[in-house]
Amino acid sequence: MPDEAKYAPFICSCLLAVFLFSPGFGQTAGNLSARATPSVVVVEGGTLIDGTGAPPVANAAILIENGRIQQIGKQGEFNIPAGSRVIQADGKYIIPGLIDSHVHYDMPWLHRLYLANGVTTVRDLGGSIERLMTLRQEIAVGNILAPRLFISGVPINPGSVRAMNLDSAREMATMLVEAGVDGIKVTGYTSDELREIVEVAHANGLIVYGHTGPKRGGRAPGARLAVEAGLDGIEHALGVLEDSMGKDVTVPADYDPESRDHIFRFWYGRMYTEVDSSKVDSLIQLMVENNVYFAPTLVNFERNFVLRNTPELETDPALQYIPEDEPPRFGPFGSADRENWRKTLDMMKEITGKFQKAGGLLIAGTDSPGAALPGWSVHQEMELFVQAGISPMEALQAATLNNARVLNKQRDLGTLEPGKYADLVILDANPLEDITHTQEIHLVIKDGLVLDPGVLLKQNIEQFGARGERSFDRSKPNQ
Ligand SMILES: [Zn+2]
Repeated sequence: MPDEAKYAPFICSCLLAVFLFSPGFGQTAGNLSARATPSVVVVEGGTLIDGTGAPPVANAAILIENGRIQQIGKQGEFNIPAGSRVIQADGKYIIPGLIDSHVHYDMPWLHRLYLANGVTTVRDLGGSIERLMTLRQEIAVGNILAPRLFISGVPINPGSVRAMNLDSAREMATMLVEAGVDGIKVTGYTSDELREIVEVAHANGLIVYGHTGPKRGGRAPGARLAVEAGLDGIEHALGVLEDSMGKDVTVPADYDPESRDHIFRFWYGRMYTEVDSSKVDSLIQLMVENNVYFAPTLVNFERNFVLRNTPELETDPALQYIPEDEPPRFGPFGSADRENWRKTLDMMKEITGKFQKAGGLLIAGTDSPGAALPGWSVHQEMELFVQAGISPMEALQAATLNNARVLNKQRDLGTLEPGKYADLVILDANPLEDITHTQEIHLVIKDGLVLDPGVLLKQNIEQFGARGERSFDRSKPNQ
């Protein structure tokens, strides 16, 4: 491992993926074929929440042909072709397929878990380029039934540049562009180097996003520096908090900036005490003025810290579907630590609400899998957004339309409109009344293929085992 490995930003597994460069992942789940798509599907009845922000439409009808929405509106507005498969949705609510814009797509058991939770698109934020390229293609042509996948490849930092025998950040950005990534992630580097990465990416129509904290004990660039260098997005609220502190956090004399335990306890646990709200406001304003999106990944912090080593996390019923027993207990942390982390999370929620109110582009990303569970966590992120004072409609848009904009795929994804991919979720209850209703999923449709979440979850256990039954070697994806 390169020296930088020990400086890996601790709330993200992004850098762990740097060394993974193995092919063949695409063949791992060949039986999950998405090819048996019926040509015409109609969803009839129910209330349509199309994700544009328009008021809900009762007694809706959606005509899906060859995986795309052909027509959409009220029942009776258009004819239903003979032989269509009709899904009756009376009493249900129909929303766009959800998008998780921060995942690490490293295992075949993830496919059905995301889909069963209504997540029809994901963006990988750090993994083996070759493996992800193959997987992206296999999914796109329908050989593998999984969320549509966008990829960033390997995050750029001094360690990853060296590991690839390259000479500079610019060279690595060029390599990633030529490899065909959908966007570029950075986790290190100086202002000048960030500008070079941005220059290469923008010249090729790609955006650049940064994991920006913690600076203490790490080599992350910091949120303000990243925004000033021209980055297009900030991942994790931590970097924004860190760059909004009035003065240095008081840490014990024996504080070791290279100790994970110290960083967790004394840095994450105390940073909320020194945040200056005028600095928050000015950084948020800078982000909004520069059209920088914000993915606070609140659920990641909540589950990795606020809930860590608690029964609430460890007895989560969703864990039964995770063949690898996650999450592990870790560290000598107890209730006093959790209480401090909760205050830090409260502050993260506060800046998230401020960013939304300032007109910023807020998006839902979760950093799953891990403590943030694949699929479930995007719903929890929306719930945290609503707790931050954001409306259910806006929270839903953060996980649909806004994520589609960040992917530059708003012509195909993010709302339910004619011409777009037929990716939608049919719910049993109204999410605009209570955002937790997005978890009451009746059916999921991806590319016009109708999927039953209960069946997907059952199949996943049959194929990969229930909680803790198997472990997977991430260097050997064909298992
Ligand atoms: Zn990550």
